[in-house]
Amino acid sequence: MKALILPVNRDNWSQTKGYELREVAAPTLDESRDPEDARRVLLEPLYAGVCGTDKGIWFRKAFRESILHHLEQDQRDHFVVGHEMLGRITALGSEIKRAGRFHVGQVVSAESHIYCGRCPMCLAGDQHVCANERIIGVTWDGVFAEKVKLPANVLWPTVLEKIRPEVAAVQEPFGNAVHVCTPNMRGSDLSQSEMRGKTVAVFGCGTIGLFSILIARALGARKIIGIEPNAKNKEKALQCGADQVIAPSDQSAEEVRAFTEGYGADYCLEMSGFPSSLVQAIKGARRGGHIVLFGLSSGDVTIPQFEDMITAGKRLHSIVGRRVFSTWEITKQILEDRANGIQDQVWKQVLNEGKGTILPLAEFTKERFESNLLQHPKTLVSIGRL
Ligand SMILES: [Zn+2]
Ligand SMILES: [Zn+2]
Repeated sequence: MKALILPVNRDNWSQTKGYELREVAAPTLDESRDPEDARRVLLEPLYAGVCGTDKGIWFRKAFRESILHHLEQDQRDHFVVGHEMLGRITALGSEIKRAGRFHVGQVVSAESHIYCGRCPMCLAGDQHVCANERIIGVTWDGVFAEKVKLPANVLWPTVLEKIRPEVAAVQEPFGNAVHVCTPNMRGSDLSQSEMRGKTVAVFGCGTIGLFSILIARALGARKIIGIEPNAKNKEKALQCGADQVIAPSDQSAEEVRAFTEGYGADYCLEMSGFPSSLVQAIKGARRGGHIVLFGLSSGDVTIPQFEDMITAGKRLHSIVGRRVFSTWEITKQILEDRANGIQDQVWKQVLNEGKGTILPLAEFTKERFESNLLQHPKTLVSIGRL
């Protein structure tokens, strides 16, 4: 089968860049060799999303240790990349066939964090922080391929009459933003939305920031301010429902306060990964407010006047992945409700209505993939036919 792969090892990691289109062996279900295959399925990806994780791997800026560790542990010299997917089931392991929940031909998306289901975190319902997790396209063969093998417990059935396929392919990153906008929520009952009537500041209006603005609006936020330097993203943030967008500076927190009747925002969403932005997000939150951390920066961050954060009762939340599957259930409700217009906005503002944002796998070139990575909030690799 054709696949985009990453051929890396400890020696060549920093000298290489990008992915390669190669002919590799397709995965198979063979329960006599691996009994776990009884609980897995084979899929044919239709569309696969390209995201920040892929950008980090493309430029060898992220995931070095986890990738090299797993390649060495599995004694391999390459793996298939890509983790956001809409696909069609082509074969089922024996246990999955017997259980009857999935069938061949069914269209599904997938949670990208493969969880064990047995560790204390999984048993407590916190599969998104599983102690034994593997991540599709990072430490498990990914979806930029004509075939992929996945455990059935990460599959999320998707009805294409309700969500257009290109948007259905980005439910996983959209779900990240849903998780960001529901840091304290456990269930999926939207009438319990914690954002109803609240003020929200979104620090960084890239892909997940734009999703967050759409979602915060849908969840009833009263006022939304974006903090974003890029003119194109600024315009998109306004289109997605931000009331105002300001440029980042060491005065951002003051501007957020002015925007929120002098108190500070109920929710500051830190999506940029810049330490300076984190400092402003903490400062810009009201007393008792929530600072939601999603943007990644490596290394150290200094928080000035740390004690002020504590004595003001500000609450920090780190967001990783999605809650399995309550975040997916909220994602489904928001996207399937055509009246809120969000599906159309995702298609328009994030996927640019498919113009220049859909790359057929067989036509992969490094130049085109890289220019898409740098130009568009979201690109899709199209693989199988619908
Ligand atoms: Zn992603
Ligand atoms: Zn686990």
